[in-house]
Amino acid sequence: MNPERTTMKSAAAAASEIGTQSNTRPAERSVTPESSPPAGCLLCEGLSESRLLFHTSRPIFQCAVCALVYADPRSPAADDYSEDYYRDGVYADYLADRDAIQRNAPRVLEELESMVKGRRLLDVGCATGFFLEAARARGWEVRGLETSEYASDYARRELGLEVETASIVSPPEGLPLFDVVTLWDTIEHLDRPDIALANIRRLLAPDGVLVFSTGDYASLLRRLAGKKWRLFADPTHNFFFDEKTLRLMLTRAGFEVARVTRRGKRVSLSLILHQSGLPLSARVKTWLLAKGWNPSVYVNLRDVVTIFARPHSITTPEEGPR
Ligand SMILES: [Zn+2]
Repeated sequence: MNPERTTMKSAAAAASEIGTQSNTRPAERSVTPESSPPAGCLLCEGLSESRLLFHTSRPIFQCAVCALVYADPRSPAADDYSEDYYRDGVYADYLADRDAIQRNAPRVLEELESMVKGRRLLDVGCATGFFLEAARARGWEVRGLETSEYASDYARRELGLEVETASIVSPPEGLPLFDVVTLWDTIEHLDRPDIALANIRRLLAPDGVLVFSTGDYASLLRRLAGKKWRLFADPTHNFFFDEKTLRLMLTRAGFEVARVTRRGKRVSLSLILHQSGLPLSARVKTWLLAKGWNPSVYVNLRDVVTIFARPHSITTPEEGPR
């Protein structure tokens, strides 16, 4: 018997059992990952055939059944997110992006404030905590999880935020329930997004909202760019979802999709130059950062999908829809 099938089923079943818990109870015990990750497609329980699409830093596969696209082997994360990742790595200088990140925050926080009554928010993959800082300033009670020792330490030390160095795949015990859980460009980094969603389902209040963003593999830009798509440039990206695979994974974890958008965001000039690969861009970027001048511009390439989801309402067979 395939151990992966057992885990997927028990995670989904456990997630569907908790819809009636009260808002004040602490979250139940989390689903924990197996010691070794399974090969093959997470959504098809590892039983389907996958085909090799192409190689980036690793071979990229697509499931023949559900079309999920993933890198194999998966990056184990954690160790990869040192200061080098945030400065002159995937990012030009993440700390210099603070203004851009915080100018993006009010739009989604306003939306969330109209969707939930409570103000307890957990940001998963919170990096240095800039989004949490913006939420706290609007009156939210905030906590964060971040696997990077460097980034989580910055959030605690510099911003005084309650951030734990931990993954949502194996979250710390004793977390309370939250009204909102956010993941900004994080789910594609995880080695077990299925377990992550089951754990988030347990941490969300029954009337809570999960909102996350990730690259859209079905986007026009990805189809034009092929294997040169910008999401493939980060060697810690394990999954390349589209709306269909995300809806399938959310349903299995006990969520219903409330809203799907393809919105843009403000991006700093230093990051645009850093990732552009254009001649002289590195020199201009260094000059800008040295001057402390890093303006942001609104960019929407329509290759990122943002999904709002709610815990599936639990209905007994008698009162459920026919
Ligand atoms: Zn599949």
